[in-house]
Amino acid sequence: ARAAAVAESSGPGRTRDGHPVPLLANIGGPADLGAAVANGAEGVGLYRTEFLFLDREHAPGHQEQVDAYREVLEAFPGGKVVVRTLDAGSDKPLAFLPPMGEEPNPALGERGMRMGRRVPEVTDAQLRALAEAQQGTQARLQVMAPMVTDAADAEWFADTAGRAGIHDAGVMVEVPAAALRAHHLAETAAFFSIGTNDLTQYTCAADREIGALGRFQDPWQTAVLDLIAATATAAGKADRSCGVCGEAAADPVLSCVLVGLGVTSLSMGATALPLVRAALAQATLEQCRRAGAAALAERGPGEAKRAAREHLPGLA
Ligand code: PEP
Ligand code: MG
Repeated sequence: ARAAAVAESSGPGRTRDGHPVPLLANIGGPADLGAAVANGAEGVGLYRTEFLFLDREHAPGHQEQVDAYREVLEAFPGGKVVVRTLDAGSDKPLAFLPPMGEEPNPALGERGMRMGRRVPEVTDAQLRALAEAQQGTQARLQVMAPMVTDAADAEWFADTAGRAGIHDAGVMVEVPAAALRAHHLAETAAFFSIGTNDLTQYTCAADREIGALGRFQDPWQTAVLDLIAATATAAGKADRSCGVCGEAAADPVLSCVLVGLGVTSLSMGATALPLVRAALAQATLEQCRRAGAAALAERGPGEAKRAAREHLPGLA
């Protein structure tokens, strides 16, 4: 029955009762577009642009960036493409950035938009290339910054994007401070996208690179679900969309819980799209909401998953 459900599932993401949940792809560059299109992605929810910048002596030039971004935008006429600005840090050093010195804890260091603010010319150049790449394409370009921490970060990014001619500028929510203050970030952020990989790492204080800490790298940890719920609620009140683009979106049961908590779109590695599409098609929005509430009421990840499943009878 599960295989049949997956085979049948195509078209845009929606719950059994027709509530739309756009299903988008996470990509690292144009090479990933084939799989995204083949698996029915409705757009791109996370374009990790750092792959264009890694392992090279000089920053990619304007035209090289325009060409890469345009190729992605052209793959989704009428769809949306969410491009994340450079997410570099001392664990992924870039030869053309000023030396950062040793950071004992790179995950807590000058990474993501912290680096983007230190070298604003790199951020500006990227945003200008994106603005140009969009011209003449039918896709809806959105840009977002990684590792946004507070309202001042969100404001800086919106201003910087605006000066480059892009007014649809949002923030990733992957730092607990940003989740807790999403209502203030919404004053300048056009949308939210929750990065559950880092949000889990920072909520549970467990480095995502350390295998022995696997128990704390589980997005079913109920403290993480609390922060997702808080962000989605704040987004809803401010009339902002709130996607999830971390690995959590690729878990079929959790995807229903996320929708129940108020998440408005899901972005994942393309191969996960069919299973998630099939899972959503088996649950009504009300069942998703009950599953979300039941998960939040539990004390730990195992209990949360079991409780959620009880409200999602159609799922395997
Ligand atoms: C995340 O942190 O959840 C995320 C989507 O970004 P990345 O995995 O690239 O850090
Ligand atoms: Mg991240």
